Amino acid sequence: MKKYILALDQGTTSSRAILFNKAGQIIAQKQKEFPQIFKGNGYVEHNPNDIWSSLLTVAKEVLLCKGLDAGDISSIGITNQRETTIIWDKETGEPVYNAIVWQCRRTSEYCKELVKAGYSDMIKEKTGLIIDPYFSATKIKWILDNVQGVRERALSGRLLFGTVDSYIIWKLTEGRVHATDYSNASRTMLFNINTLDWDNEILNILGIPKNMLPRVLESSDDYGYTTLIGKGKIKICGVAGDQQASLFGQACFSQGDFKCTYGTGAFLLMNTGSEPVSSKNGLLSTIAWSVGGKVNYALEGSVFVAGAAIQWLRDGLKIIDSAAESEPLALSITDTNGVYFVPAFVGLGAPYWNADARGVLCGLSRGTTREHIVRSALESIAYQVNAVIEIMQADSATKIQTLKVDGGASENNFLMQFQSDITGCNVLRPMCIETTALGCAYLAGLKSGYWKSMNDIKDNQKIEYEFIPDITESKRETLLSGWEKAVERTIL
Ligand code: ADP
Repeated sequence: MKKYILALDQGTTSSRAILFNKAGQIIAQKQKEFPQIFKGNGYVEHNPNDIWSSLLTVAKEVLLCKGLDAGDISSIGITNQRETTIIWDKETGEPVYNAIVWQCRRTSEYCKELVKAGYSDMIKEKTGLIIDPYFSATKIKWILDNVQGVRERALSGRLLFGTVDSYIIWKLTEGRVHATDYSNASRTMLFNINTLDWDNEILNILGIPKNMLPRVLESSDDYGYTTLIGKGKIKICGVAGDQQASLFGQACFSQGDFKCTYGTGAFLLMNTGSEPVSSKNGLLSTIAWSVGGKVNYALEGSVFVAGAAIQWLRDGLKIIDSAAESEPLALSITDTNGVYFVPAFVGLGAPYWNADARGVLCGLSRGTTREHIVRSALESIAYQVNAVIEIMQADSATKIQTLKVDGGASENNFLMQFQSDITGCNVLRPMCIETTALGCAYLAGLKSGYWKSMNDIKDNQKIEYEFIPDITESKRETLLSGWEKAVERTIL
């Protein structure tokens, strides 16, 4: 009897392995951080060997710590930092360059050229994405153009490209499988989300040989097996990028279901069902997952600075000692006394789209205390999330009913209540906020027969707390209009 699913969560700063049981509960977990490589000029890299060795170590450790072996594991699910790009030699397994991380801005100039050349509409229509260095396509081109001999080796069929999921699958299967899933493919800016195939026109424009690209499989599918974790074979059956995995882990299976992950930034995804929805407000259309032959799409919007605003109070202003302290401080007063904080440290994203905006703290008086500032920082997270929700509702012509939340800052009760008040919807916080790992575990377990259907997964969902709106409409309008005025002041 197979007891557990093993979720491998390869994140931006650490690799984690988590064992889940049938009820979707965590049985054991191990985590290992690995080095970040900052080279200046906005260059961010990871050493692929660090990614792989940290992940393999935690995978082995989590089995060992429970005295388990391969035979106890029904299957492996993989979720990963998205867009990060690796190219390696298929004979030697050696990467030709470091992994170029999603945050890396080295291809900004080239992206501007693509925009100037008039490719924006075509790329948005085909891939659902806005031309940006964030996505894998221009990172691949950079390696082909800048690392000596790589283009020739790629053309001769020696090299493989993969996002982090592909690289891990290839390593786990010792080179037998070169594949990715629809959700990760849809973040490369090379994948046509309508025809569900790599796009020849975009590949030609960027000069990327098609033979480097992985096969694209369903998110719940047969990805081969590994013999590297414990004695015996374990099947790999689930793969999804981190934000899509968390949408699945929150059981947002129906059209109109929403989730928000409150981490350093905040990521909002809305299930748009079997058709991609094209945003008029700069949101991304992306593939959420493909399960049982059915592709599900999502709209995605993000807030650049969410939990990071609280980090700044702690590390920059030094007015709090821990992120958790922000909650009692905010609750110790009844309002911000007219103080608004807009943490536009790196400009503002959707729906404002102003890269030159900078942060403001306004409405200060002699009576302003650190409590007011702390509360205004927490409120700013909710206002920004609310602004993205409003445009998602407009783009999809769907009214949000409930918002499912996860991520570190979702533990803050004040923030969650304020989100519910300001958005006017119920906010549901699940028992298990490791929804990313849970999502890929579910995808794997559905394929390996550990869970029979998506209904089994829905039955597993346990809500830890439900926040219900508790302010008057006029109060809400007053608060929102104050926020909009503060946003106007971010333009210097
Ligand atoms: P990431 O995955 O982006 O590293 P996490 O999900 O681990 O993020 O969440 C960490 C972020 O959440 C940090 O920016 C931190 O400031 C914020 N955070 C953590 N706990 C709280 C809390 N109780 N209240 C407010 N913010 C918090």
